[in-house]
Amino acid sequence: MVILGRQGSGKGTQCAHLVGQYGCVHVSTGDMLRAAREEGTELGIAAGELMDAGELVPDDIMNGIVAERLQKDDVLSRGVLLDGFPRTPDQAEALEAMLGDGGLTLAVNLDVAVEVVTSRMVERGRADDTPEGIARRLELYEAQTAPLLEWFGDRGILEVVDGVGEEDDVFSRLRSVIDPLV
Ligand code: ADP
Repeated sequence: MVILGRQGSGKGTQCAHLVGQYGCVHVSTGDMLRAAREEGTELGIAAGELMDAGELVPDDIMNGIVAERLQKDDVLSRGVLLDGFPRTPDQAEALEAMLGDGGLTLAVNLDVAVEVVTSRMVERGRADDTPEGIARRLELYEAQTAPLLEWFGDRGILEVVDGVGEEDDVFSRLRSVIDPLV
């Protein structure tokens, strides 16, 4: 499954609960890029500059990274929870090609309004959570990622879950849309 939602919508927090509940593998492209940066790989250094500026890493690079990750044994045996990917229409098309027919079961949009996510991000203070970085990432989300909601909707696999409220309540809402499918 894929989890979508604005920056600061609580995807990371809920993904940890979902992995505990369903035993799937959490693949977060943001985490993968941050790990590459820590390791100081060529990709990590280039991606780090884009991340700091709030810009996206180019589609062909992201598609390659994810395609490689999805071939690993853990994903093949346990299934995957994708977080941060796809983020553009090109990535969505690439994902569909990687997974093949019926490979995508569900896309959940963890819905939280722009004003709410902005104040949450200001509070968490991650390195790329500068006022400019936040504004730029949200702008790209509306332009590039929000259209994917319709893309998943057209495929009949989109569920929208209200992401405002207590962590446990949000998790219960997620379970109520996922449980019927597992
Ligand atoms: P956020 O959703 O708060 O931006 P992430 O951890 O998902 O946090 O991503 C951090 C940064 O990593 C993004 O701003 C972007 O630069 C890069 N990134 C992550 N996933 C992708 C992706 N699928 N395509 C392009 N860039 C990505």
